[in-house]
Amino acid sequence: MRAVISLPRHNAAFCKGCFTTFVHEQVARAIKSFKMFTPEDRILVAVSGGKDSLALWHILLALGYRADALYVNLGIGGYSEESHRKVRHYADTVAAAHGAKLIVHVVEQEAGAGIRELATILHRPTCSTCGTIKRYQFNRAAVEQDYDVMATGHNLDDEAARLLGNVLHWQDEYLDKQSPTLPASVEGFAKKVKPLCRLSEREIAAYAVVNRIDYIVEECPMAKGSKMILYKEVLNRLETESPGTKQRFYWGFLEKQTKPEPATESMAEKDQRTLHPCQSCGQPTTADTCSYCKMMAKAKTATPR
Ligand code: SF4
Ligand code: ZN
Repeated sequence: MRAVISLPRHNAAFCKGCFTTFVHEQVARAIKSFKMFTPEDRILVAVSGGKDSLALWHILLALGYRADALYVNLGIGGYSEESHRKVRHYADTVAAAHGAKLIVHVVEQEAGAGIRELATILHRPTCSTCGTIKRYQFNRAAVEQDYDVMATGHNLDDEAARLLGNVLHWQDEYLDKQSPTLPASVEGFAKKVKPLCRLSEREIAAYAVVNRIDYIVEECPMAKGSKMILYKEVLNRLETESPGTKQRFYWGFLEKQTKPEPATESMAEKDQRTLHPCQSCGQPTTADTCSYCKMMAKAKTATPR
């Protein structure tokens, strides 16, 4: 068999079939070692139309898990149209054959404007507006529709770049929460997992090509100039010089994290003390009204329909 990909960090080259098996094994190991979910659980995958999230949906269905997906249409012109088409196509052609369904949320329908216009109205950066909306929609869908766990397509490159950013700024709170599995909370946060955390971006792209997954290649136009892209470039440079750097950096961090914690108040305990249901929608928040409901109320007064 002809090798289709070589992986310097594993000192190995794989043919098509063996590479697919390798990827499935890496995901199965992450699911098991971070106690993500069991075959009985109902999983909600956050899909964007990109390679990572569609590959994740594909892998979970191939491994026999009960995985539906949620897509949030952000209303970013041609980019959103194209990504929506890719997700719909995958759902109708592959996921439907496994009995899995796609849930769609359209920002414009609820807010009366796409994410960029909304950010302008709210005087907030587009990506932070987007983050609030996506986090809210995924959590709400998972909790209200009784999913046991929410899965995202974050890969090794994403997590290593995020770790680098958190370390460079010594963001202790974020470092505490940077884990492939975040448990559900009694206040209404769904359990969140990252089953692709053992696989690099390049490996997932190769998996998508080998398995003929039709994904949107273009990045979100709002991502240009982001710090995450810079951190990824720096890590890629190190990886080229010294294969395995990303893996050692991120996995080393996870190993240290699993050591017994000193007896201080955990983030979960702090959260439990301050969170309560939003008076408007019932989702957990530290204020009377959650930031999503505040955003929607502002948007509705600014964009009369
Ligand atoms: Fe949202 Fe920004 Fe990511 Fe685009 S780049 S999907 S706007 S967070
Ligand atoms: Zn609310």
